[in-house]
Amino acid sequence: MKKTVLITGASCGIGAEIARKFYSKGYNVAINYNKSEEKAKSLLKELSGSIIVKGDVSCEKDALNLIDAVVNAFGRIDVLVNNAGISSFNLLTDISGEEWDKIFSVNVKGTFLVSKYAVKDMLRYHSGKIINIASIWGVCGASCESCYSASKGAIISFTKSLAKELGPSGICVNCVAPGFIDTDMNKNISEEDRAAFKNETPLLKIGKTTDVADTVFFLASEGSDFITGQVLTVDGGAII
Ligand code: NAP
Repeated sequence: MKKTVLITGASCGIGAEIARKFYSKGYNVAINYNKSEEKAKSLLKELSGSIIVKGDVSCEKDALNLIDAVVNAFGRIDVLVNNAGISSFNLLTDISGEEWDKIFSVNVKGTFLVSKYAVKDMLRYHSGKIINIASIWGVCGASCESCYSASKGAIISFTKSLAKELGPSGICVNCVAPGFIDTDMNKNISEEDRAAFKNETPLLKIGKTTDVADTVFFLASEGSDFITGQVLTVDGGAII
């Protein structure tokens, strides 16, 4: 039977590449987006037979509606990729309470809400894979990104807790922690900073969206069935 994957925040960047990867492997693909409707529609044209579902992952009603839409379209959810995320770059003293709440709302609460409703479906089948997209900064912290780093650190501990809680129910939960990947999220980073990051990376490269998508697919495949609660860094060795 054809398996189904739901990817949050898949209108562009890493999420869209994950959608392409699963589609190429024969999955039913559910693409969630929030603001970028045109991009989601254009991806849908590329991946015909998939579905797109609008929804803000940080809104409980939208998260519930998202899971209902996927189950109605494809019957069940085999793989959930919590990819939707936003970043911010600010000195601690310049971060407003509003900015802090916004980052935590999308990155952490969004991961919690979508997992909560997807798991209800997975529990019925005693199987499932959840892959959360964290960041290397959630492992080692980044200067001027304390809020983003803390939110990604929270995703890592959430992953480990869920792996323990859901393992006996046949559900694996893992994290992928990308390093610097070429997407819109990094479009404001100067050429100088980009070159510096590249030169400090053992593999002397900036990551591609396909590097992350391939790793996510591995964690969804049977080859990873005995792996849970892990953080797999995809960073060219940047934080060894
Ligand atoms: P991106 O190009 O900015 O894409 C972000 C995606 O998240 C978009 O599809 C966006 O959808 C979606 N999104 C944002 N807020 C949302 C919300 N409230 N509800 C639903 N979807 C929402 O970023 P990216 O680089 O592909 O990042 C994807 C993930 O990888 C993020 O979690 C990010 O933190 C993580 N990551 C990225 C890097 C990197 O270097 N790029 C490194 C480490 C980790 P709409 O535009 O439709 O709103």
